[in-house]
Amino acid sequence: MTMNVNPDLSFIKFLKSAGGDTLKKCYQCATCSVVCPLSSDKKPFPRKEMVWAQWGLKDKLIGDPDILLCHQCGDCTAYCPRGAKPGDVLGAIRAYIYTYYGFPQGLAKLASNGKNLPLLIGIPAAVILIMWLISGGMHLPTEEVFTKYGFSQFFGHWDFRWLSKNVFFIDIIFLPAAALALFSAYKGASAMWQKMNEGLNSDSNFRPSCNQFVLDYLWPAIKETVLHKRFNECGVNIDRVKGHLPLLLAFIGLFIVTTYGFIRKDLLGVFIPALHGVIPQYDPFKLLANVSAIALIIGIGILWANRANMEEKKGIVPTFYDWFLIGEIMAVGVTGLGAELLRLADFMTVAYVVYYAHLVSVLMLFLYMPYTKFAHLVYRTVAMAFEKYRESGFVNKGA
Ligand code: SF4
Ligand code: SF4
Repeated sequence: MTMNVNPDLSFIKFLKSAGGDTLKKCYQCATCSVVCPLSSDKKPFPRKEMVWAQWGLKDKLIGDPDILLCHQCGDCTAYCPRGAKPGDVLGAIRAYIYTYYGFPQGLAKLASNGKNLPLLIGIPAAVILIMWLISGGMHLPTEEVFTKYGFSQFFGHWDFRWLSKNVFFIDIIFLPAAALALFSAYKGASAMWQKMNEGLNSDSNFRPSCNQFVLDYLWPAIKETVLHKRFNECGVNIDRVKGHLPLLLAFIGLFIVTTYGFIRKDLLGVFIPALHGVIPQYDPFKLLANVSAIALIIGIGILWANRANMEEKKGIVPTFYDWFLIGEIMAVGVTGLGAELLRLADFMTVAYVVYYAHLVSVLMLFLYMPYTKFAHLVYRTVAMAFEKYRESGFVNKGA
């Protein structure tokens, strides 16, 4: 049987620039598929992905769930006799996938290239600055106001008791950014599911109901993601779970606290204006916020050190894709905790500047979340759900 191969050269070029420059060294020995602790017997990886990537078969790779099932443990890279670094090649393909499925495309492409870093920081910095100017709150409060209200009058104060000016400005900045991130993640994940489904080549006419999809595939996949089950199967890079787990728990904690803040200030605050002020230190949610911020810094610090060590020991070239998210999360943690400590220490001017930097870093995280490494949380969970689906009776395996 003959097969026409039309390599996508721009795709190969992207892989090389994103850490997959060792791709050509692969000579198909399959050691990587044998040592990979996460590869299944029925659908072994990453050898087949190395062949497809060498041939520039972009279309096959963007619909391949195994790319997302890889947890970048590095076992295959450690044992590859040719130094082809299959783990890094798969990481580069994932970076391509997040850009490919990203919506809107312009933002996805902007966030995928290190040359755009000044713009990636400049856009959110300008948005917060303009809003700060428009709000009329761009001045230091009196010491009394700062002690009593902290940053809750950062965007100023008005006498409209039902909705504080600060809550109003925070909402008009962050709610659209969060909505865009959610919509983009949904759009990207559903397009990827469709593409993976095309690759099944099944002629089955049966589809799971929405209920079945959630209970049998999605929920078990979410549980696996949260419990880090597959990370624990990794060999050489098992230490990565030590950073990954506190980081994930910190994000869950911060999500709970943000939701609590939204309900307290944006919803209940409309009826009880006293809830608009600073959340007291003894409030359990405040405690959770502080613990989560510390866990965030510890988790990302461990990942930072791990990556730096790995690059040094194995001679891996640092990539924007790997470092952008690490830097971004570190900035969120350090500026958030820093602003809080400076507020408690009454260093008002510096605290205000650090709080501004915190808002910028959080907006960056929201805006670029669906296109950076962060996106693996969504795409990998969807791929794990798909893995369960492709093994189910709904897929005609004889097709
Ligand atoms: S990537 Fe390395 S281990 Fe895997 S097939 Fe190629 S040469 Fe062999
Ligand atoms: S990096 Fe780890 S999980 Fe990914 S393909 Fe290699 S061995 Fe498998």
